[in-house]
Amino acid sequence: MTAQTIAVIPGDGIGTEVIDAARTVLDAVCARHDVALDYTEFDWSCQRYDRAGAMMPPDGIETLRRFDAILLGAVGWPGVPDHVSLWGLLIPIRRAFRQYVNLRPIRVFDGVQSPLRGAEDVDFVVVRENVEGEYSEVGGRVNRGFPDEMAVQESIFTRVGVSRIADYAFELAASRRGYLTSATKSNGIVHTLPFWDEVVAERAARHPDVRWDSEHIDALAAKFVLQPGRFDVVVGSNLFGDILSDLAAAVAGSIGIAPSANLDPTKEFPSMFEPVHGSAPDIAGRGMANPVGAVWSAALMLEHLGHPAAAADVVTAMEATLAKPETRTADLGGTATTAQVTAALVEHLS
Ligand code: ATP
Ligand code: MG
Repeated sequence: MTAQTIAVIPGDGIGTEVIDAARTVLDAVCARHDVALDYTEFDWSCQRYDRAGAMMPPDGIETLRRFDAILLGAVGWPGVPDHVSLWGLLIPIRRAFRQYVNLRPIRVFDGVQSPLRGAEDVDFVVVRENVEGEYSEVGGRVNRGFPDEMAVQESIFTRVGVSRIADYAFELAASRRGYLTSATKSNGIVHTLPFWDEVVAERAARHPDVRWDSEHIDALAAKFVLQPGRFDVVVGSNLFGDILSDLAAAVAGSIGIAPSANLDPTKEFPSMFEPVHGSAPDIAGRGMANPVGAVWSAALMLEHLGHPAAAADVVTAMEATLAKPETRTADLGGTATTAQVTAALVEHLS
């Protein structure tokens, strides 16, 4: 059996701590399922930026290209502007490797307190379009400093881009409970979102097995709070998906457990797996970071690499660990350390 190759970028702050934990859990589950992964670690981070003037070397993208997947901790550190860590690493990776799906599973686990009452049944996935839409660089500022100053920002929605994200979401829904919700705002944004709606409806015709509806983003955000248990898969544009996935992670009880995947579903390029949280400088180096977000992201990676049974085992271990008060970290009201939670996960896997 040839090993699949993983590029590991622990990054900054608790990124390095939770990636250590994820690696330990991966070792345990891979041994059990006879999965071979071959890791190469890269020190690309804000520390590297301080030392060498760049988050990654000029041939960084080329280097990553040959891997089967990328496992990332978190990048960002006080004193280094957000646009450096974002545009110096994350966005180039997403774009170069055409990771057009941003996948954010949301669950309220037993033992995890959601801020919402009655949220126990929450189990859905936000699928965010990850490479086009509202986050474009097209536009500009005119009449700078004059009373009639203005700014224009164009959104880009392509037939190819909307079709492929819709197809991905419909297929995912078909593999789950068969229900898709599409986020829109075609009553107010009169060109791009009617186009989005049209293309989603066209793709729906190819997936008769999936029930679907379309909701305006404002009403949808309210339903995330009022009836989060009703969703299965939710698909949104880059901006809507961004907002909905953060809202959903908050509904799930802690940002420390939220995972994400940046996928190129065609597998032509490596996909990237990372916890939703950042480097959390306030708790870094104290051994108290919740490793579950990184561990769940690693499970998504196993699934993408074709090891669904191993991925499912990791999720089961997470459920068991979160269910016990003594193996919860401080963000979940417990007192367990990162190492203790990791040890509990490994114990469930052996
Ligand atoms: P960045 O700028 O890199 O996004 P940040 O501090 O702005 O970092 P996060 O790192 O996402 O944002 O963290 C927000 C807060 O949530 C942190 O201050 C931290 O206390 C808490 N937090 C985030 N991740 C975890 C985790 N894995 N375990 C425990 N607490 C966490
Ligand atoms: Mg932040």
